[in-house]
Amino acid sequence: MLEIGEKTELTITAFGSEGQGIGRADGLAVFVPGALPGEKVLAVAKKTEKRFAEARLERVLEASPSRAVPPCPYYESCGGCSLMHMTYEAQLAFKTQRVRDALERIGGFSGVHVENCAPSPESLRYRNKSVFSFAESAGKVVSGCLSEKSHAVVPIADCLIAKKEAAAALSAVTEWANAHGVRAFDEKTGGGELRRLMVRTTSAGETMAVVVTKGKLRFEAELIAALMKAVPGIKSIIHNENPERTSLALGRRSRVIFGGSTVTETLAGFCFSVGAESFLQVNGAQTPNLYRAAIDALELCENDDVIDLYCGIGTISLMMAGSARSVLGVEYVPEAIRDAKRNAELNGVNNAEFICGAAENVLPKLVGAGRKFNKLLLDPPRKGAMPRAIEAIIKSGVPRIAYISCNPATLARDCRIFADAGYRIESVQPYDMFANSNHVETVVLMTKE
Ligand code: SAH
Repeated sequence: MLEIGEKTELTITAFGSEGQGIGRADGLAVFVPGALPGEKVLAVAKKTEKRFAEARLERVLEASPSRAVPPCPYYESCGGCSLMHMTYEAQLAFKTQRVRDALERIGGFSGVHVENCAPSPESLRYRNKSVFSFAESAGKVVSGCLSEKSHAVVPIADCLIAKKEAAAALSAVTEWANAHGVRAFDEKTGGGELRRLMVRTTSAGETMAVVVTKGKLRFEAELIAALMKAVPGIKSIIHNENPERTSLALGRRSRVIFGGSTVTETLAGFCFSVGAESFLQVNGAQTPNLYRAAIDALELCENDDVIDLYCGIGTISLMMAGSARSVLGVEYVPEAIRDAKRNAELNGVNNAEFICGAAENVLPKLVGAGRKFNKLLLDPPRKGAMPRAIEAIIKSGVPRIAYISCNPATLARDCRIFADAGYRIESVQPYDMFANSNHVETVVLMTKE
């Protein structure tokens, strides 16, 4: 029996769903983060359960040709880019397989063809949004990312997958805090002030910085000056107040302290105004490819009435509007709906309508009231679509559905419900939106006679 702390030699034969290597010891599947299939490794058991164990990679004894040296000095401690020890080709192969495994094991589908994961145009410096945290260390404010493992702040000076502006803003805010005695917020005691920094930079280089504190913002003029110096041409600085005991980054109250309340992203020739609270895909160079694939799958024509569920700021709705008779977007964040309506105007689109509400409440009402639509796109958050939303889609009888998902597990679960109601999976295309992390985005086309 494998004991905690015991060193064991393992042959890694497969990937776990998060990209860990899996070997076998004493009849147990042993998950080893950082180990690759085909490798022989020395691992130390950390946790044992009835049917599996977790171990720490001590040393690679025989390396796989897919092994790469992580370019980031914080790879070990941060945990965000958990695939950085693989070549990019190996990362893509893992992501394709992750989607296939989920459809087979969770969805119960067999023989579904999964296309190869489409590579991201950039594997570093692609992220347009970063959220940083602050902590106290030796009487000073330090800043960095929250460790995936411990939820402690890992001090970092730069994040290699983020746009350059993110690190510049981070060091400016950290120096400002130290210069003026603004203490870092402590989640355990509730003491201190400075909680988070969110930085969003658009493809054209427009930057928004959101500084989150527990209460009132002190040294506001100095903060603005520091950020303007660090990120010349910064378009928007927002102060957000978050007094709650929560791990959510943003609180309810936001106030623009410099510039405007939004920045503008350009995707496939459309302009999208996006505020601090609204969702925007983080990989600006890859996003149009993902959207195009989903829209092409729908084969839009001029008599189509389309629903875009979980529409965010209306990105996909507006890209579809030119090829359809009407588009209706549904989204539950009021600020995003406000952005979506403004974006329709900004792009001269007049056949798109937006409703603010939860998909699982709005859609059953629309279907109950006999609203007609013949194509549907859904792009839910990680937890997937709520059963009531899926039931309403099925009840509507819509014959063609494009499902965009950032979580293969909930995608597979939801596709099973659609399949049991008579829908057929026509195509599955994974997209790499999050190079170096284990996340994967997927577009599935489903049809029904
Ligand atoms: N399609 C958009 C947004 C996708 S992200 C884009 O690509 O930009 C998922 C969106 O669903 C987010 O904007 C989130 O606010 C919204 N959302 C989450 N749960 C929801 C629900 N139950 N009903 C409606 N919208 C929801």
